Amino acid sequence: MTELPSRRLLLVHAHPDDESINNGATMARYAAEGAHVTLVTCTLGERGEVIPPGLAHLAGAALGQHRRGELGTAMAELGVRDFRLLGGAGRYSDSGMMGLPDNDDPGCFWQADVDEAAAHLVEVILEVRPQVLVTYDDNGGYGHPDHIQAHRVAMRAAELAAEAGWKIPKVYWNRVPRSVVEEAFVRLQEDLPGLPFTKSAAVDDVPGVVADERITTVVDGTAHAAAKAAAMRAHATQITVAEPYFVLSNELAQPLLTTEYYELVRGERGSGERETDLFAGVEEVS
Ligand SMILES: [Zn+2]
Repeated sequence: MTELPSRRLLLVHAHPDDESINNGATMARYAAEGAHVTLVTCTLGERGEVIPPGLAHLAGAALGQHRRGELGTAMAELGVRDFRLLGGAGRYSDSGMMGLPDNDDPGCFWQADVDEAAAHLVEVILEVRPQVLVTYDDNGGYGHPDHIQAHRVAMRAAELAAEAGWKIPKVYWNRVPRSVVEEAFVRLQEDLPGLPFTKSAAVDDVPGVVADERITTVVDGTAHAAAKAAAMRAHATQITVAEPYFVLSNELAQPLLTTEYYELVRGERGSGERETDLFAGVEEVS
């Protein structure tokens, strides 16, 4: 086996773009610090809505291929070289928004058997032996079927990997503290007249918003803000960026956060009130 760096971070996401929105600054920071950063994306986002009119013809498999390219560009911006698709490209397809007939497609991720899908992730875990796993909460942050399924698969894979010989010391869910979002939205209302966006999202539209007390870990990615914005721009079919804001295809502006927040759900919290490092307290073994 090739020698891996002593700190190893694994992130599990539903679609290309989720990693840059949620964890772009974190990924860039740890990659820059020499940690091994592995991204596993579960689908190619074939059912995403396309923003640029010039790319509006892309749909289904063609959109998936295009988004795969966007993901590669985003990873180059973040300095992340190890990025994979769960079970290989095209194994699981985008399930579409909750309640649509798309959810019944037998090839979609929502219909996947959790243990079968988790087995693909267990292979990655046993190969990389990460000390930290990052994924969504049990509602997938905001209720999208692929995000909920990514949560289930990631948590199940962590269990199965522990039985197979690698217990991931720390597991985190992506979070955003309510006070931070509320403050950012006050600024957004003031800035809106000067922005290329016309409408603001609401606090509860932001995935993973929770009471501040639930936040265990704050990763300051200010030094990597430019890389995060560039990675988000690389997902041009899905995101329009106008720093310090961005919009998705719903055309609702929201803050682009360069400090990223987490809730530790498995493992021991490092010392201090709030951790500032996902690896706090973990033994570094190669
Ligand atoms: Zn997504």
